[in-house]
Amino acid sequence: MKEDKVKVLIIGSGPAGYTAGIYASRANLAPVIYEGEQPGGQLTQTTEIENFPGYPHGIDGPQMMEEFREQAIRFGADIRSRTIAEVDFSKKPFRCVDDRGDVVIADAVIVSTGASAKYLGLPDEKKYMGLGVSACATCDGFFYRKKKVAVVGGGDTAAEEALYLSTLAEKVYMIVRKDYLRASEVMKKRVAERENIEILFNCNVLGLYGIDGVEGAKVIRHKDTPEEEIFDLPIDGFFLAIGHTPNTGIFRGQLNLDKEGYIEVKSPTTHTNVEGVFAAGDCADPIYRQAISAAGTGCRAAMDAERYLMDHYFQEMASDK
Ligand code: NDP
Repeated sequence: MKEDKVKVLIIGSGPAGYTAGIYASRANLAPVIYEGEQPGGQLTQTTEIENFPGYPHGIDGPQMMEEFREQAIRFGADIRSRTIAEVDFSKKPFRCVDDRGDVVIADAVIVSTGASAKYLGLPDEKKYMGLGVSACATCDGFFYRKKKVAVVGGGDTAAEEALYLSTLAEKVYMIVRKDYLRASEVMKKRVAERENIEILFNCNVLGLYGIDGVEGAKVIRHKDTPEEEIFDLPIDGFFLAIGHTPNTGIFRGQLNLDKEGYIEVKSPTTHTNVEGVFAAGDCADPIYRQAISAAGTGCRAAMDAERYLMDHYFQEMASDK
């Protein structure tokens, strides 16, 4: 077992973690970043990103994350392709243990573990990932201009995704498992007013089909009832909007989480309820969930951590200069 003592430990990569790494390195805090199970986070699963300012011609998600990473390394971030498995925030400095059992003792911690879109769990979702299956209409909707798409889910996210897609696609189906939308009244009204959105109530997806990509979904209506029917729905794109799960399991009992598991921060800062622990990106953001907003909170978390360290560890920091 190895034990390291660091000023700033960043748990999780992606736009928030790498941006925190860039700012913390430039502030001479020698951050250590544990990249986690999916280095680069959710963007490494998308194709082209067209809405991140600074890339007028778009950029590949994995390439953008590689560039964020390189930038953090350039300023001295120590990036480790490992996962933090356990944390103890009950006393300072904080004790964190990685997946090999090595220990990192940190004066400040930035949590940027992200969130994961929920999937239905169909084998076909994996098969057609990037070939018609997506969990982000803002990221991938543009590829379905004048095509037919389906959005699974009946909440506000699904309504928002369907509305967005309806401005690009020829036809948008919402596949809703109940006989009503869970979305807010205002969103329901907007969906109802959009002519090219059709809601398929009481429907579940059994699978997807297509040769080189999604060409349709097999749908079951009124499952397990006398009216049960199975039909093919020809579509080019299949969007999941059945919610996100923040990757915050290891912080349960350590940090205040909301009922969905998102880390609570003292907005507009990135301070959590534990002094010296900060949260950035999707793990603390149930609303925006964009790369640019995650990067912004990563910057804020590094600045909050720097101020915290200056206030509490000034002597040590001065001797490091
Ligand atoms: P929600 O949990 O509100 O909705 C999830 C939807 O997916 C529900 O319709 C649910 O169906 C359906 N669903 C879940 N699992 C399955 C499954 N296995 N198969 C089929 N359908 C499934 O999540 P959202 O992401 O929509 O919203 C999260 C929060 O964020 C909410 O509080 C929402 O109000 C908020 N939000 C607000 C926005 C806004 O105000 N503009 C925009 C986006 C989100 P069922 O109803 O049957 O459970």
